[in-house]
Formats: sequence, structure tokens, C-alpha cells
Amino acid sequence: MTAPQALHAQMRACRRCLEAGYPITPGAVFSGPSTARVMVVGQAPGVTEAEAGRPFNGPSGRRLFRWLAEAGWDETTFRATQYMTAVTKCYPGKARGGKGDRVPTRAEQKLCTPFLEEELRLVQPALIIPVGGLAVRRFLGPVRLAEVVGTRLQDPEGRWIVPLPHPSGASLWLNRPENRERVGRAIDHLRRLRRELGV
Ligand code: SF4
Repeated sequence: MTAPQALHAQMRACRRCLEAGYPITPGAVFSGPSTARVMVVGQAPGVTEAEAGRPFNGPSGRRLFRWLAEAGWDETTFRATQYMTAVTKCYPGKARGGKGDRVPTRAEQKLCTPFLEEELRLVQPALIIPVGGLAVRRFLGPVRLAEVVGTRLQDPEGRWIVPLPHPSGASLWLNRPENRERVGRAIDHLRRLRRELGV
């Protein structure tokens, strides 16, 4: 078994959060080859992603792939050649009150961190696209989306980071014209980096 295959088997078999008492639906959701140069990192899969076993499969995925298409990637090729994952990999269940999905706790994020670290080590992406506040803060620390969406940054390891808002929660955020401009600038960065990196 190759190292990526071993990691994927471990992630799929993982029950750490369930054993710690969190009401997740076990079954890690991620996709793409370890030869990818681009890694998209979301918050956690939603119910449609968990059912299909495919990241960004639902309405939020349609919006994300519209943004990626504007940057020059078509969905089929992107899914086949680039890596997609999340800070926590199992469906966290509905939020209390039933409105939307539960945000994974810090403890769950910590339990899942070794998997994301290992994915980063194996894939070694040249470009990371953290999607949504939780993923953005995982890479950039305690920042507000408005501070960083529209910028491109390079981390100490030389990886480009282009943050995006979460497409499922973006509607309200995107109601503000200045935020729509920020996303437009982020897409411009992605388009340029796609050419520069040849991905
Ligand atoms: S979210 Fe991560 S740590 Fe938690 S059970 Fe799923 S794979 Fe394991």
C-alpha cells in the first residue's frame, strides 16, 4: 500500500470524534491525487458531500466551481487533478435548532489536525485555497475574512495561499459590494497563479 493509500484508509476508518462523544457521521470526505499542485481546504463536509462521498458536492460546490471556472479551471479536470479536503473530514451533523450544519469544535479540529498535516506533507501543494473562516484561520491565524480575501500570501514554506469565503455562507457576506470586489480580486490571483504555476 502506498503512503497516500495508507493515509486514506486511516482517515476512512477513523472514529476518533465519535469515540470522544461528538455526533459526527463517520466517513472522511476528501478527493484527488497526491500529485495535485492545488489543495482546496474547506471547513467540514455537509450532508450532501457525506452522502456522495465527494467534497463540495452540493449548492456550495456549485458556487465554488463557478469561482474556479472564472479562474480558468473546469470542474471535471479540477476534481480529477487537484486535491480537495477539509479541516475536519466527517459530517458534523446539524447545528442546534436545526439551522445549518454544526461548526466542528476546537477539540474535533485538534483530533483531525494530524490528518490535514499528513495530507499537506504528502501532496506538497504549491497553492492552497482555504475556503471559509475556519479553514482560513487554520492557515493564517486569527484574521477576519475581509482582511485577507482578495490577497495572495506566501507562507514560510513558499506555498501560495489564496483565501476564499465559504460559498455556502457567502450570500450575506457577498451582499456587500466591497466583499464582491474582494472575491473578484481573489479570482484574479487564482487565474494568475494558475498560469504562473502551470496548473
Ligand atoms: S473528523 Fe477527522 S478526527 Fe474526527 S472522526 Fe472524522 S476523520 Fe477522525
